[in-house]
Amino acid sequence: MQSKTDSARAKANWAAVIVAGGSGTRMGRPKQMLPLAGRAVLFRSIDVFAAMPEFSSITVTTSGENFAALDNEFGSRITLAEAGQTRLASLKNAFALVPSDARAVAVHDGARPLVTAALVRSVCEAAIKTGAAVPAVPVNDTIKSSRDGKMVEATPERATLWAAQTPQCYTRETLCATLERFADAGDVSDESQLAERAGFAVAIVKSSYENIKITTPQDMAVAEALMQDGSKKAARLTMRVGMGYDLHRLVAGRPLIMAGITLPHGKGLLGHSDGDVVLHAVCDAALGAIAAGEIGVYFPPTDVTIMGISSRAIAEKTLEVLSGHGARLAQIDVTVIAEEPKLLPHYAALRKSLSEIFRLPQEQVSLKAKSSEGLGHIGRGEAIACHAIAVVQV
Ligand code: MG
Repeated sequence: MQSKTDSARAKANWAAVIVAGGSGTRMGRPKQMLPLAGRAVLFRSIDVFAAMPEFSSITVTTSGENFAALDNEFGSRITLAEAGQTRLASLKNAFALVPSDARAVAVHDGARPLVTAALVRSVCEAAIKTGAAVPAVPVNDTIKSSRDGKMVEATPERATLWAAQTPQCYTRETLCATLERFADAGDVSDESQLAERAGFAVAIVKSSYENIKITTPQDMAVAEALMQDGSKKAARLTMRVGMGYDLHRLVAGRPLIMAGITLPHGKGLLGHSDGDVVLHAVCDAALGAIAAGEIGVYFPPTDVTIMGISSRAIAEKTLEVLSGHGARLAQIDVTVIAEEPKLLPHYAALRKSLSEIFRLPQEQVSLKAKSSEGLGHIGRGEAIACHAIAVVQV
């Protein structure tokens, strides 16, 4: 069942700004689009925020050449903003798109793909208490200061030094006041120093040395090694499998809604909800994997208040139930059985929609369709059925 923590998380209403405007001069080409263990660094950074129910908005600033790839991968889950000349200019462009009721804004480097949801959560929660917070680790090397790079001027006391990372988090009001006060600050390496200069208290949240920023080719090798270590840990987690099945009558006078999108067809699926046979089968598969009943338990067909609801709400509830069990949807495979319409032309749109609704990378979403060879009620075009298998990590 849904836990209180889980429900609170979905209502947190945080906003993420992921800054990925770097020209990547030290890497030769834009580092954020380089593949890290088979997936672009920037995609991996976004994945962490896209999977957290606390974030109701994610804005990504990058150069226009990456827009199509990002839109194709994340669709409506992210908003795109053009990167500015400096990090601060990019942040200002993105901040203009942050919802006015956001309770916290997390500003993250697109080149820090190893950030964890637990760290993001800790820093945002600290920011809500103090106004601003940054993740940081104690500095291990002795630091020398020198303006000319030839002669040492001073050696700051190491015990007082912390290396700042991201996400740097703020209440919306703190960040708004900081950006207004330093509208012309030029290039700064992080915006928390402006919040300090504006007189705001900035808290430190102790972070991990693994939350590295990918700046040089050597960093890619380190990140790959850290990820391999992480996947060994992940492999020790339990994978569970569930199956789901659903069937709805196909009738005239209703829109045909499958996988959350409306397909052009003269008939639609009859149901208490919008009749989305694909979402129902996937949700039942996901709930089945953790033995948490089926969607009818959470949305009884006898409840008149939910008549005609979008099945996207059922999918959202299913994700909350999974999260409440400490589980995460990892992969789905869907087979639709329909005589008509032909679904092949819609495969890409259906997969994209499923990946958005279930917050899964598209490579973990499979959908295909079979006909019923003209046999039986499905073959006569009187119904559409759907089978689904879900893999869940617990
Ligand atoms: Mg159904």
